[in-house]
Amino acid sequence: MPAPQLSVVIPVFNEEGSLPELFARLYPALDGLGVSYEVIFVNDGSRDRSAALLREHRQHRPETTTVVLFNANYGQHQAIVAGFERSTGERVVTMDADLQNPPEEIAKLLAAMDKGHDYVGGVRRHREDSWWRRFASRAMNRLRERFTHIRMTDQGCMLRAYSREIVDAVAESREVSTFIPALAYTFAANPTEVDVAHAERVAGTSNYSLYKLIRLNFDLITGFSLVPLQLFSMFGMLVSALALLAYVAVIVYRLFLFDWNGADWKEATAVFWDRDILAFFLIGMMLFGLGLIGEYVGRIYQQVRSRPRYTIRAVLERDARKRHDG
Ligand code: UDP
Ligand code: MG
Repeated sequence: MPAPQLSVVIPVFNEEGSLPELFARLYPALDGLGVSYEVIFVNDGSRDRSAALLREHRQHRPETTTVVLFNANYGQHQAIVAGFERSTGERVVTMDADLQNPPEEIAKLLAAMDKGHDYVGGVRRHREDSWWRRFASRAMNRLRERFTHIRMTDQGCMLRAYSREIVDAVAESREVSTFIPALAYTFAANPTEVDVAHAERVAGTSNYSLYKLIRLNFDLITGFSLVPLQLFSMFGMLVSALALLAYVAVIVYRLFLFDWNGADWKEATAVFWDRDILAFFLIGMMLFGLGLIGEYVGRIYQQVRSRPRYTIRAVLERDARKRHDG
């Protein structure tokens, strides 16, 4: 069977309430696109009947449906990676299982790809989420913009489309904690964004607790930036420099006041000795050293993630066959 034009990857965690409606809406929407497609559901260790529903559903559409069953809960992003690894489509769309991303919006993403973009991020213009969720998202967005080079208007929106090259690069990256939209962004040559609709959850409640959200954003910052480490070095250098300045000022002042006639050597050394300032200087040096160690640790971390260092769009060279034949 030839590779389909489109793969849709959907992570599923405790979505028994949403799945029936998802099945009912997703396939007609995909049929309406007029492209060949496959749908890959990844059950992320659900503790409800989701796995059974997916199993059952696959029997009705064995040609177009793949179901991956995790044995435990590894998180939404790992589930997406698993889906990427099994996807074969020229384009891959990710979306949530709770129908907060309407499947009817996939057409908009594909239209943007037709214009030559290899990465299309969805932006939820009217979010149907609680106010604190929106507030937290906005704050984290701003933090990420500062610390990393990743420009996304709406990092939480999973309705996104990626080219095959990007999906392969993401699947090749061997990192344990990851944030797919950001990782994919680093491989994109021509990213863009489109507005998409956002609906309330069909059933159930959000699987993200405050704790999970904080963890996720920690992953995002530490996974794409060494800035938090560098802040230590910067602060350390600043403290040391200030301590040095203070030292010079204090010593000059004391030298003027000091009466050299009749002073013994003990008093003379006391002129140059200032415990507080020295302590400050050393604390600064220690912070600097901490940051320096962190810098190496950060590099080790970057190395062991073994992300593809680059992705090649094309190589323009003389006929490749000639080279092999000699
Ligand atoms: N999800 C998952 N594993 C998890 C948490 C969530 O696969 O540990 C899936 C979930 O089934 C849904 C998507 O990720 O398809 C988004 O989750 P949710 O709707 O709970 O997040 P929110 O919309 O509140 O950001
Ligand atoms: Mg949701």
